Amino acid sequence: METAEIRRRWLTFFEEKGHTVVPSAPLPFDDPNLLFVAAGMVPFVPYFVGQETPKWSRATSVQKCVRTPDLEEVGKTSRHGTFFQMNGNFSFGDYFKDGAIAYAWELLTTPQPQGGYGLDPEKLWATVYEDDDEARGLWLELTDIPAERIVKRGRRDNYWHMGIAGPGGPSSEIFIDRGAEYGSDGGPAVDEDRFMEIWNLVFMQYELSAVRSKEDFDVRGPLPARNVDTGLGLERLASVLQGVDNLYEIDEVFPVLDKAAEMTGKTYGQNPSHVASESHPDDVRLRVVADHVRTSLMLIGDGVTPGNEGRGYVLRRMLRRAIRSMRLLGWQDAPSLPVLLPVSMARMSQSYPELRTDFARISQVAYAEEEAFRRTLASGTTILDTAVSRIPSDPAQGAREMSGAQAFALHDTYGFPIDLTLEMAAEQGVSVDEPGFRRLMAEQRNRAKADATSKKSAHGDTAVYRRVADALGRDVEFTGYDEVVSEGRVRGIIRDGANVDAAGTGDAIELVLDRTPFYAEGGGQLADGGRVELANGAVLEVRDVQKPISGLIVHRATVVFGEVTTGDVGNAEVDIERRRSISRAHTATHMVHKAIREALGETATQAGSENAPGRFRFDFTAQQALAPSVLSDVETRVNALLLEDLPVQAEVMTQEQARSLGAMALFGEKYGDAVRVVSVGDWAKELCGGTHAQRSGQLGIVKLLGESSIGSGVRRVEALVGADAYSFLAREHAIVGQLSEVLKVRSEELPERVSGILSRLRDAEREIAGARREKALAGAARLVDTARDIGGVTFVSHDADALAADDLRSLVLDVRSRLGNERSTVVAMAAAANGRPVVIAATNAAARDVGVKAGDLVRQAARALGGGGGGKDDLAQGGGTDPAKVSEALGAIEGVLRERHG
Ligand code: ATP
Ligand code: MG
Repeated sequence: METAEIRRRWLTFFEEKGHTVVPSAPLPFDDPNLLFVAAGMVPFVPYFVGQETPKWSRATSVQKCVRTPDLEEVGKTSRHGTFFQMNGNFSFGDYFKDGAIAYAWELLTTPQPQGGYGLDPEKLWATVYEDDDEARGLWLELTDIPAERIVKRGRRDNYWHMGIAGPGGPSSEIFIDRGAEYGSDGGPAVDEDRFMEIWNLVFMQYELSAVRSKEDFDVRGPLPARNVDTGLGLERLASVLQGVDNLYEIDEVFPVLDKAAEMTGKTYGQNPSHVASESHPDDVRLRVVADHVRTSLMLIGDGVTPGNEGRGYVLRRMLRRAIRSMRLLGWQDAPSLPVLLPVSMARMSQSYPELRTDFARISQVAYAEEEAFRRTLASGTTILDTAVSRIPSDPAQGAREMSGAQAFALHDTYGFPIDLTLEMAAEQGVSVDEPGFRRLMAEQRNRAKADATSKKSAHGDTAVYRRVADALGRDVEFTGYDEVVSEGRVRGIIRDGANVDAAGTGDAIELVLDRTPFYAEGGGQLADGGRVELANGAVLEVRDVQKPISGLIVHRATVVFGEVTTGDVGNAEVDIERRRSISRAHTATHMVHKAIREALGETATQAGSENAPGRFRFDFTAQQALAPSVLSDVETRVNALLLEDLPVQAEVMTQEQARSLGAMALFGEKYGDAVRVVSVGDWAKELCGGTHAQRSGQLGIVKLLGESSIGSGVRRVEALVGADAYSFLAREHAIVGQLSEVLKVRSEELPERVSGILSRLRDAEREIAGARREKALAGAARLVDTARDIGGVTFVSHDADALAADDLRSLVLDVRSRLGNERSTVVAMAAAANGRPVVIAATNAAARDVGVKAGDLVRQAARALGGGGGGKDDLAQGGGTDPAKVSEALGAIEGVLRERHG
């Protein structure tokens, strides 16, 4: 049975049982604390924790999931994908254990011709929580599973909670016995690859008061409304129903694996065993390729772009790991994604048609990342070779080892994966101190962790916010689209990370009002500033506004004077100038976004933005730099539309309406949510929760300052708006005015005049350098006369002022040859051309015979210059940073000679 059919039967079955079909939420969910949706219940959390009233009593979904912790399992077990789909049925205070168990049994065991999955009841096992006799009784009563196939397990396996106080309860899992060829007998407790978990039923029936760990928590009492949350792994069931060994071989994944095998000439399934952990390493690599290519496709489809942190980093890792695995399989010379990604798209678009319509954008992002990685690999090869060449060979031992620090630097600075370093070093007969490398990696990870915790606590602990949100019982009302002053009531005060009832003059607090016109930073728009004046006369100054958890707006404020107490009423007043200026920037961002898409095509999608007072930056996906002519066209287009004074309007509508209007940025939205579409005239339509100017004419001027790259495939434009754009242009104009006055030409003649001056200057410099050289070389004879004797060595030392390095070398060699080879001779000179000091030393054969080496002398001298250098025994050169130390450097050489020979 095809995966698409399993999915269809699921939704039909539960729809017929009165469940509302809810489409999948996008993988990057609106909760910033979550990397990706990792279970079907995630979009329903607000209902389960009682934050929102459920819209239905029964719902069902097939949710896209990504689990990064399972990354290491990919290919090594038969059942873990980084991307997978979780089929779920949910009851909100409706049916409970009986319904969940009966539905699951019915759907799994109803024969296929009658619309079920037709699993053999003899092969099914169930687990229940050890104290849950109710569930155990229901399995015996409602299904054919005999008592010996119902296994009791403890909290670790069969108890669910969210890791914080709130709902929790026992779970019951359904396993399928895949047969003796998949592993040892004895049930799920013995072998989870043979007895594979396919479906997890969670019964939320208790309120937990404290959760210290997975297994250590306190139960406060029963929940008023009991809920059911279930999750069945679509791919796992597909592997069973398609009679394949693992989920990399199902119809949605295998075509990519097969293509990868074809490209690399590998035969998949070299080891006849069905047990995944006994697979040939090449089979594991092929599975990694197939899994990661699909996950990358789905992530980019949902708007994730490769980056160096958070979600973007996960995507980058997936893509690079897939490319790297292809390399290890022998595919080196050409990019692999242009072959593999379309194969994955062709399969996945059967369930997700938007992957096909969006494929131009998706593939561009993926291919650009592969190009970037290939460049890293190419330059990394040179870097690695250099690192290897620096490793001293130890003739006593014969072995050469790269230090952990070097391997770490390759990884950290150049993104060179350790396995690549190992492999390439081995090719050159060099081993790598891997434990040392791992130690440094662990240290870095710990630093990153400490960093993340400290950032979070600056935000306060989310539990503090959660308490305020619970007490409020609803979202804070944002009035700022229509008003800049609103009356509100103080509903929460947080000081030093703790909830308090009151605060006084001088206190820095976080203030929650039941309604506020203050815009919290988000969607690229910076926060409003302003004041809150309470009816009791107290005044607070608002510095920052944030949304630490969904629905809660928090003002970071200082009490200027007076006292603020929970329950006080007052007026919240937004700083209008700042707000207007930010709003103008935000409208300008939309207009530039639209104009860039007009110029480059629809694949240029927004990848980030920041709207600040009077200025903004806008990041978008593009393969290449924006040509200056395109940049100027975009600017002209936008400014022309400012003059048309287009009305800017915001409208709330359903996602379908927004899509049919052609609104941009339609991913990352939760299904069913109404969306706000901001339009500039009939021209730019974009999903946006921010604030805007009322008409495009209010923007005045938009001036693009330039364009740059901020990572592979992502470009950034920066711009000024309104008064800031005007002052910038006025300043530039004044500078041009000053230049034309000084140079005595009209402004349009400036470029020609300046380049004329520059070329004459270059000629003059060349002439001076020539004269200097002649003079210096002519002085060679005189320098010979300055030779001194240091313990039998003839020594010439000379400070050649600003002589260029090449000329300095000629002079050194000239003096050395004039001195002949009868006596040991050392010539050392230093100079500083353009502020960069250079020291050069030369020895003749007689000097080398008594052990004087130019390289040693220069190393000493360069140290004095704050730099380094070296070279051969007869001639060596070094440099540094401090031109004032030239004579000190020469002194150092003399010092070495005196010590040795004086
Ligand atoms: P396991 O112990 O096998 O990793 P789990 O306990 O992590 O599974 P749940 O969190 O209960 O799984 O998720 C519900 C269902 O989702 C599982 O029964 C399984 O069918 C499916 N599932 C979980 N993780 C994956 C994965 N990485 N790839 C594919 N399916 C998965
Ligand atoms: Mg798991």
